[in-house]
Amino acid sequence: MIEVTGVPTAKDLARVLPPRDRLAQGPVAVIECFQRIPCNPCYTACKFDAIQEFADINDTPTIKHENCNGCGLCVSKCPGLAIFVVDETYSDHEALVKLPYEFLPVPAKGAEVDLLDREGRVVGRGRVERVQNAKVQDRTLVVSVVVPKELSMEVRNIGMGDRG
Ligand code: SF4
Ligand code: SF4
Repeated sequence: MIEVTGVPTAKDLARVLPPRDRLAQGPVAVIECFQRIPCNPCYTACKFDAIQEFADINDTPTIKHENCNGCGLCVSKCPGLAIFVVDETYSDHEALVKLPYEFLPVPAKGAEVDLLDREGRVVGRGRVERVQNAKVQDRTLVVSVVVPKELSMEVRNIGMGDRG
């Protein structure tokens, strides 16, 4: 139960994951926001009519995956660090996951990193492809990390330990 553990269940995730055919078309946002709170910066950040206007500010977001181009503008705007962009078309065997990141040190492009799941468990190793840290992001970095394709819906953070 997410209220107790902070970790979504498989049933929670099934409600928000993009359809397989959309994932096969390229980068798309995955919004893992499950609790009703007064919050909507994801909606105001999206310039592509993908995240729909909230009828009630306490609603959880609704996204039209077909309108999302994976730009990632919403990723750094979410105070809950609940939005990721997944690109399963990155290569034959790898996917790209854009994730919000607020720790130090800032990872460097090309760094080999631990791949962490939603519970913080190490599930593999990956490579930092890009680090976005514009002023407008207000210190929430967006890190693009290359992961084995089969982990695209598992990896939600990175760890550098003393190897980054
Ligand atoms: S990734 Fe871009 S297009 Fe997709 S929901 Fe976020 S802001 Fe909108
Ligand atoms: S900005 Fe983040 S926490 Fe707020 S409603 Fe959108 S997805 Fe949920």
